[in-house]
Amino acid sequence: MKLNTLPFLSLLMCLAAGLSAQDIPTLNWAELQKAKAWEATEYYKPEPPVVTPGYLTLPPSDAVVLFDGHDLEQWRKPSFGYGVNMEQISVMAQMMFDLNYNERSTAPWQIKDGQLIVVPGSGSIETTEMFGDVQLHIEWLAPVEVGKEGQQYSNSGVFSMGLYEVQILNNYENKTYVNGQASSVYKQYPPLVNASRPPGEWQSYDIVFIAPKFKSNGDLESPAYVTVLHNGLLTQHHVQLSGPTCYIGQPYYAPHPEQLPISLQDHGNKIRFRNIWVRRL
Ligand code: MG
Repeated sequence: MKLNTLPFLSLLMCLAAGLSAQDIPTLNWAELQKAKAWEATEYYKPEPPVVTPGYLTLPPSDAVVLFDGHDLEQWRKPSFGYGVNMEQISVMAQMMFDLNYNERSTAPWQIKDGQLIVVPGSGSIETTEMFGDVQLHIEWLAPVEVGKEGQQYSNSGVFSMGLYEVQILNNYENKTYVNGQASSVYKQYPPLVNASRPPGEWQSYDIVFIAPKFKSNGDLESPAYVTVLHNGLLTQHHVQLSGPTCYIGQPYYAPHPEQLPISLQDHGNKIRFRNIWVRRL
């Protein structure tokens, strides 16, 4: 806003409030300039870190690269399977405090032509590193599967902390429950738009996940929040999660460690992945 428009706008605001121009406090510019009063609301530290943006969606300079087409060094087989309801999930969450995450086990998925491919029936995979608040980029492709429909057509998922799923599914001209379609926070929030590309085409998710925080007695201090861009379109805008993803029943929070692996779901379909990276927030 130009400085000389301020008195006019102030006058308009005062008139709207039933005040007259005389009610506007006059400014002593000489005094203000002596004290450089405007500097009181300007700050210089801490400086935002300088980050070299990636070309298009290639990893930026501060990313942890989780898959670049070469190997599965950043992945392993998880200690748990999928938790169906909160009775299971709350016990699993408690057990996560005692897991030895340094144990290595080979992730059982396939790499072909620089793509990571789900091996149906082999189970989900999870990162060897632990993460809390993150910005995650992942590209995925739902293969054409003639005759498949609904939740059976190219189902997978990105589980932040292994517990909170953003659904992967082919929802290009394939309907299912909306809070279970692609880019939904599964069983909690449908996407704002259906940004799905046809099966056989690469798609992307950019996910901002804010981890839930727990007090030392296990009570919830702050819930998890998720923002998602699907193929560059906003589909989840800082939605507040009501707990971990569960297939049956209502979710609620169960205390778990501050950082946990990110996992990718094996739901029996040969979903392909590429260019996976994450930034710690
Ligand atoms: Mg899924």
